[in-house]
Amino acid sequence: MTRYIERPSPNFDARTRPIDLVVLHYTGMQDAETALARLTDPAPVAGRYPGPWQSEDAPADAPLPTVSAHYVVDEQGEIYSLVPEEHRAWHAGASSWEGEGDINARAIGVEIVNGGHEFGLPDFPDAQIEAVIRLLRNIFARWPELGPKRVVGHSDVAPARKVDPGERFPWKKLADAGVAIWPAPLDTPPDSDDPISEVQQHLAIIGYGVKQSGFMDAETKMALIAFQRRFRGSDVSGAIDDETRCLLAALARQFA
Ligand SMILES: [Zn+2]
Repeated sequence: MTRYIERPSPNFDARTRPIDLVVLHYTGMQDAETALARLTDPAPVAGRYPGPWQSEDAPADAPLPTVSAHYVVDEQGEIYSLVPEEHRAWHAGASSWEGEGDINARAIGVEIVNGGHEFGLPDFPDAQIEAVIRLLRNIFARWPELGPKRVVGHSDVAPARKVDPGERFPWKKLADAGVAIWPAPLDTPPDSDDPISEVQQHLAIIGYGVKQSGFMDAETKMALIAFQRRFRGSDVSGAIDDETRCLLAALARQFA
C-alpha cells in the first residue's frame, strides 16, 4: 500500500491528449521543501528561490516560470501528490518524443528530490529509488497503456536544454524492477559503413527527436549525449564509439 502525502498545486490545466508517457526529473534544488514550494507556487519570483540557476543580482521580484509535477519523491521515500494525473502538469517545457511536442499533454511528471549537477550530483538513496519503483508500479496499474518502455527522462525529451535526472540516476535498478528499459548490448557494433545514419535511425526508433540528416548535427549530438547519460553514464561525450553503437542498436531492437 503506497501512501501519498497530499500537497496540492494550482499549477495545471487540461490535457489535450491521452496519457502515454512518464517523465522522470530531478528537482535540482537545495532540498525537498524548496522544490515543493516552487512546484506549488502560482506566481514564483526569483527572490523566493535563490540558487545557482540564477544570477545573484536578479531582482527579487523577477517572475520565474510557473511549474508543477504530478508527484515529488523525497530522499526518505515519501511520495507527495501535487496534481491529479488526469490534469496536465507543467514540468517538461519545450520537448519532443516520437515526433510530437507538448510532452506535458501526454505525460505524468515525477520530480525526484536531488540537488543534481548544480549541487554536486549526489547519489539517490535506496529508499527513494524504492519509492519511485512503487510509484511507477502504481501508475502502470492505473494506466494500462503505460509500462517500462513508456518511462523516459527529462533529458530524453529535451536533450538540448535538460540534463535531468542525470547520469547518476540508477535506471538499471528501475529496469531490474521491471519499471524501465535496459539494453543487453550486442557484442559487436552493427555492420555499417555509415555510423552517423545508423545512430540517427536508432535514436529515432527509440523516440528521440532527431532528423535523418546523415551528418553529425547539433540535434543528433545532444540526443546521443542524452542517450549516453541514461545508458552509459561513465562517458557522456556524445562521441560515436563502439559501446554506444552496441547499446543503441540493442535498444532499438526492443522498439522495432
Ligand atoms: Zn526536469
